[in-house]
Amino acid sequence: MAEIGKDITKAKQLLEAGELVAIPTETVYGLAGNALDVTAVTKIFVAKNRPEFDPLIVHIADRAQVNVYAENIPELAQQLAERFWPGPLTLVLRRKNNIPDLVTSGLDTVGIRCPDHALTRELLQSLSFPLAAPSANPFGYVSPTTPAHVNDQLGDKLSYILDGGACEVGIESTIIGFENDAPVVFRMGGLSLEKIEAVVGKVHIATHSSSNPKAPGQLVSHYAPRKKVILGDVKNLLKDYAKEVSAVLSFKTNFNVPHQFILSPSGNVEEAAQRFFTALRDLDKLPVDVILAEQVPNVGLGRAINDRLHRASAA
Ligand code: AMP
Ligand code: MG
Repeated sequence: MAEIGKDITKAKQLLEAGELVAIPTETVYGLAGNALDVTAVTKIFVAKNRPEFDPLIVHIADRAQVNVYAENIPELAQQLAERFWPGPLTLVLRRKNNIPDLVTSGLDTVGIRCPDHALTRELLQSLSFPLAAPSANPFGYVSPTTPAHVNDQLGDKLSYILDGGACEVGIESTIIGFENDAPVVFRMGGLSLEKIEAVVGKVHIATHSSSNPKAPGQLVSHYAPRKKVILGDVKNLLKDYAKEVSAVLSFKTNFNVPHQFILSPSGNVEEAAQRFFTALRDLDKLPVDVILAEQVPNVGLGRAINDRLHRASAA
């Protein structure tokens, strides 16, 4: 098991020695290594069992650093960074050559983000390099939102988990790239479409595309628990699956069944996002055959939750 603590100096020393450290962010916990050190980056892919065609997000300490690793930054990207960094937004930008090919899976773009978490920002500010950090879970499984989640699954693959508590947003970053300088959403995430469009106007959405070479990580079956997830109208599903032992994942309704997780009894999509991955993990551990789940309202972070639900049920 990895040690869990709040020692930034220890995290810094391990990272400087080319080791991996799990770091807290407002979205999910990341499995971090020196983004400029190919050996450290290789360790990330190996620990996660992540295919090398799935590029990593590079985390920087502050907005100004984006110019060190990216160039030809579109005007709307600047505006989004000014408005939302630090925050749950990844910008896919033309990369400079100081970013290793392995980080970007050979693409000429790099995903960059300035995370909004005090401990991790302090850590980043103390380092002379940015951190490549995908979510700290085995490839394809549910993302971790607490140090215990990380330890459960990757505890034997790293020595230190920086403890920043439970993630405030709880769902991965929204990813935006640019086509002819116009913003395109590659992944719905912790920054809502409404907030983005309020700054840059209507954006094109190009998620859901195992075939989209721009976002090789957008595999349809992803973010999945081990149990079978069935998505639909829970009331009907409970009848259809009456012969099986099931657990229910609901948005706000209490279905009065023995095994259930209600994401937000008050019907708040932000709260639902924060609790979503914990819900999938908890339900996955129950002695049940199937997880019967319903969509949440398709507004704000609800879109990102529904996206993950679809991927989880495609497994
Ligand atoms: P995560 O596993 O949450 O860290 O997310 C990483 C995801 O960011 C990848 O699976 C890709 O979908 C996306 N990504 C990172 N870099 C790029 C890039 N250069 N171009 C397109 N998508 C990227
Ligand atoms: Mg991930």
